Amino acid sequence: MSTKKEKKLYSERDFYLEENQQKRNEIDKAILEFANEFVHEIDERKAFHNNTHNKTIEDDLFEIGESTLKLNKILDLIKDRVVNTGLNPASGGHLGYIPGGGLYSSALGDYLAAVTNRYAGVFYASPGAVRMEDALINWCGNLIGYSKGFGGNLTSGGSIANLIALSTAKKAKSITSKNIIKSVIYCSQQAHHSIYKAINIVGLEECIVRQIPLDNDFRLSSSDFESQVEKDINDGLTPFLLIANAGSTDVGAIDPLKDLGAICKLNSIWFHVDAAYGGFFTLTDYGKDKLQDLEIADSVILDPHKGMFIPYGSGMVLVKDINHLLDANKYSANYMQDAVKETHYSPADLSPELSKHFRGLRMWLPLKLYGTKVFSDYLEEKLRLTRYLHKNLLELGFTIVCEPALTIIAFRYNFNDRDNDLLNTALLDHILEDGRIFISSTILNNQFTLRAAILSFRTHRKEIDILIQLLKDKLKDLSV
Ligand SMILES: *Cc1c(COP(=O)(O)O)cnc(C)c1O
Repeated sequence: MSTKKEKKLYSERDFYLEENQQKRNEIDKAILEFANEFVHEIDERKAFHNNTHNKTIEDDLFEIGESTLKLNKILDLIKDRVVNTGLNPASGGHLGYIPGGGLYSSALGDYLAAVTNRYAGVFYASPGAVRMEDALINWCGNLIGYSKGFGGNLTSGGSIANLIALSTAKKAKSITSKNIIKSVIYCSQQAHHSIYKAINIVGLEECIVRQIPLDNDFRLSSSDFESQVEKDINDGLTPFLLIANAGSTDVGAIDPLKDLGAICKLNSIWFHVDAAYGGFFTLTDYGKDKLQDLEIADSVILDPHKGMFIPYGSGMVLVKDINHLLDANKYSANYMQDAVKETHYSPADLSPELSKHFRGLRMWLPLKLYGTKVFSDYLEEKLRLTRYLHKNLLELGFTIVCEPALTIIAFRYNFNDRDNDLLNTALLDHILEDGRIFISSTILNNQFTLRAAILSFRTHRKEIDILIQLLKDKLKDLSV
């Protein structure tokens, strides 16, 4: 029997947390209008809002307490203080870091995942959600050339995927307090910083970490790796892990996977490949050829929120032998005994997470709606746009610091005896002030270098032409 107090709660409050149909319709309408307007105007929106990082009085409205805001005010706040500040990664003009875009259908997949709130971490609780995620993992495993016996996990991003791969390598190679200080990790000087983070977090920071020199194309030099391994073995050390790139973040370099893999195999070294950016180019003919040796790796990571254009929150780790992944993540708990009886693996067996976002649906829905061919067509377009930009940069007199292996171009103007770093920074500032295009910079060969990364599904010829024009205008301004 309900108490007086409970009765009052339900009658007076009109379901509050459990909205009635009419209220849901109102909210749906306002939120869909907001989303539709955002997508509809995406071409006119800036890729970067310069000088919006200062706090305003409006930002106080983010604070949480007893006070409430009406939905229209909430949406205004989101528009003014979230959507219209900083970087706009949904824009086709976003050519900085590594873009992706954020497919609308993927957002709707997320919506369904959240509304139905399936318990995707455990097969017993949601066999359908786990099967859907397995289908994605199988598809990606096959893309990189794995056949039977591999396993994987959908993560929140590449960093966590790298973390899982490294903890798996640690376990598989039995790195413990007894041998850690004599164990050696090798990586490229172009390794993503999430690798160093992962080394720390999984307790490998006492290993010897060696950055292997690069060749002229910013690829890890396999001959330097080979001689270093030989030297280390002679010195009584144990080489145990190599981390290579298949598409480095700075320049998109693909390390010589075949040679590196052979050296690893010969010396029982775990071979991890970070393909967060490059991996999905296996969907194109060009990329399939360039990345054919991914299949040699013991573990590989991919970032669907880059090459599959889905919103942030999707990475993937793949491990050639699922048993290693299981070993590194196994657990037991009395209250989980019903689930443990299952014969099907659960994501919780293969990752540090238990309860987790049902993140399969955001990737599965667009793939199921449009098929894989559309994705490869879009990636082919990015390769073409890269060649187009490359040609135009050369015509404008830019130096290409690293020939693009995929869709990142690192470039810089040589102003002869003038201050090159300063003047290239002026080129960047001009682009950021304009705001229609966002590019970023890096340091290569100790020099300030501009870089354009072409990956968003919304980036087309128009955006590249704006970039070329902006560079042209500023060069003229700098009287070249
Ligand atoms: C983006 C990226 C990462 C990190 O992935 P997040 O999804 O940002 O966590 C790691 N490695 C490479 C090569 C990347 O491009």
